[in-house]
Amino acid sequence: MRWSRQILFGDIDAMFASAAVLADPSLAGKPVAVGGSSPRGIIAAASYEARAFGVRSAMPTGEATRLCPQLMLVPPDRLLYQRLHEQMQAVISRLLPVTEWTSIDEFYAETTDMQSLYPDPSRLGRCVKEAIFEATGLRCTVALASGKTVAKVAADAHKPDGLAVIEPGTEASFLAPRPVRDLPGIGPKSAALLHALSIHYVSDLLDPRHEPFLRQRWGHRLLAWQEVARGVDHDPVVADRESKSLGHETTFEHDTSDLAVLEETIRSFLGTLAHDLRLQGLAAGSFTVKLKDNTFQITTRQQQFRQALNYDPAMWPAIRSALHSLALPRTAYRLVGLSFSGLLPATESLFTRRQDQAIAALDGLIERYGSRMIRLGGIPEE
Ligand SMILES: [Mg+2]
Repeated sequence: MRWSRQILFGDIDAMFASAAVLADPSLAGKPVAVGGSSPRGIIAAASYEARAFGVRSAMPTGEATRLCPQLMLVPPDRLLYQRLHEQMQAVISRLLPVTEWTSIDEFYAETTDMQSLYPDPSRLGRCVKEAIFEATGLRCTVALASGKTVAKVAADAHKPDGLAVIEPGTEASFLAPRPVRDLPGIGPKSAALLHALSIHYVSDLLDPRHEPFLRQRWGHRLLAWQEVARGVDHDPVVADRESKSLGHETTFEHDTSDLAVLEETIRSFLGTLAHDLRLQGLAAGSFTVKLKDNTFQITTRQQQFRQALNYDPAMWPAIRSALHSLALPRTAYRLVGLSFSGLLPATESLFTRRQDQAIAALDGLIERYGSRMIRLGGIPEE
């Protein structure tokens, strides 16, 4: 059966820890963690062997070595990650024509038109996994679905080295038994509130008994969650997002005048973009916030940071206040965007040692949880 729309999502398994094994093959099969070696350092990423001991991203190194005394600690190697990323991009762009990289180790591809070549989606998935492994030595989990969200959730559920195919028409039944937290857009705060209301699974979001209260509390966000829960997801794959400029923008399914929604969206862009800056060894001198209202009127605000930055908690206050001064009351917006300009090579002196550890932990969390994690709002500045 030909799918009317097909999206492939790929996510490298434990990328930083796997990269460490590539750089030093004697680490293969051992519990490996990337992070600072001082007892007060923080673990940025852990191999699956280390995770079996309970070692997790953002855990203090001291605790990790207590849990796993034989833990092999490796310092982060951003140049290596960037080189692997470029190798993966090259091989994937040869194989799949329309790809969108959402982080150093995650990408979406629009594969609808490839079905004549690959009538069996799992064959295409295996090809992608093998191509990445041959080019880099990294293992990748791949999922195919009719939309981005289901593909991402399916990949998360099949890690490591997994391959998932969610057939069209089965999206809602696939999502139904999953925890609400698995849906992008439901962060730990919303999840905690939902749990307190005995709403634990995606299916609960569609339960008419919960509807009145959920609608009152979450308004149009509930509608967006319900659409995803039903398997409705038209979010397109945006090709070459990276090469255009360092910026993200999105059109909402439903126009919104809710400042909290605008804020949350921009904050999630900031997390991804700052992560990209850090990986490229860059810092941004200025930023632009962009809004498009429901009459298609575009307004922007460009502003300079006091100094070039690439650490999102430090960047957020200026961006947030620019958004607040730009957004008009009682105006419905259909699109928000954030971009950076004035990009400079980052110097070590940009950060305190403490921030460096926090940044390593943040990048580790992004590596572990993907961009969904960014909805946590990053980590506090202090
Ligand atoms: Mg990954």
